[in-house]
Amino acid sequence: MQIDIDIYTVKKLVPLRFSQKVEVSDQIAIFRLSHEGVTGLGEVAPFRYYGIDNSWTALEKWFPRLKLLEEFSPLQRVLIDNKLRKLGVPSAILAGIDIALHDWMGKSLGLPLCDLLGLQGMPYPDTSLTIGINDPSAAVARLNSWLELGPTRLWKIKLGSPDGLDADKSMFEALADSIQTTTTKVYVDVNGGWNQEQAFHMAEWLKPFGVLFLEQPLARGEETQLAELSETSALPIYADESCLHTDDIRGLVRGAKAGCHGINIKLMKCGGIAEAIRMIVLAKHHNLKVMLGCFSNTILGNTAAAHISSLVDYVDLDSHLNLVNDPCTDGAVWSAGRLIPNGLPGLGVSCL
Ligand SMILES: [Mg+2]
Repeated sequence: MQIDIDIYTVKKLVPLRFSQKVEVSDQIAIFRLSHEGVTGLGEVAPFRYYGIDNSWTALEKWFPRLKLLEEFSPLQRVLIDNKLRKLGVPSAILAGIDIALHDWMGKSLGLPLCDLLGLQGMPYPDTSLTIGINDPSAAVARLNSWLELGPTRLWKIKLGSPDGLDADKSMFEALADSIQTTTTKVYVDVNGGWNQEQAFHMAEWLKPFGVLFLEQPLARGEETQLAELSETSALPIYADESCLHTDDIRGLVRGAKAGCHGINIKLMKCGGIAEAIRMIVLAKHHNLKVMLGCFSNTILGNTAAAHISSLVDYVDLDSHLNLVNDPCTDGAVWSAGRLIPNGLPGLGVSCL
């Protein structure tokens, strides 16, 4: 098969601030894998934290070496994945290839990927819309601008402000009234911005607002404290940065006990759709709830995740809705708070 790689800079409509940084724009790559007249599309979006380097600099070094894929057939997805993992290829690139190969398979057979996986007729969970860290009035303005898309059912609020808990509380209180008029569901993502004591306090403070759970309150590396917090916290605890792939789930589970209540799976963290399905199975085995999330993905990456989203409890695939210049079109449709595949073969995404 042939591999072509196109690079784009995607800009955010509204910069997204969370406890670690502010995101304004990102470079992404679109992989096109062609064989027998069919082209599968895959996306690579960078991320970097806690020494896990999928930064753009780390990723682009690998692009010329991916010519090695030309000796394979798209039906050798597992063989390809094994070879690339052995070479130490970063997970975001593994994901881009895995997504393109799934798209190729669906297009070749003339079936949407979700149908190919036997998921036809399964209900789709709510997709959250994200409000970043900001001053209270700007946060409320962002909530109102999101509502221009139409009604939603689930909000993700980023807390863990570098300005401390008082800033977190002021922003959340400002949003709480508006949220109650639009939906009863909201959860909080801290991106590791609190310590154990702060997280315990904030879980108690947030519970009366009806918050569903706290995502990644502590930093990656503090999984022992995360497990302690999960036992005593007023709210369930989900792991994101602490859970990249199946090996991390094994690390979170101690004996018969899971060290948290749920995990956030991202295709770029784990290496693609196949590994995400393995994580879902393992997480369910340990009674963990599952969320599917994103980085600065376009409609392509988020549609790939949407095709398996009927297998999970919560969906957080809103990044493409905040892009000014998404190079991809079509794909899953955001409809009344849910992201639903469009019924076209493969992923159903077009790209410039
Ligand atoms: Mg998160």
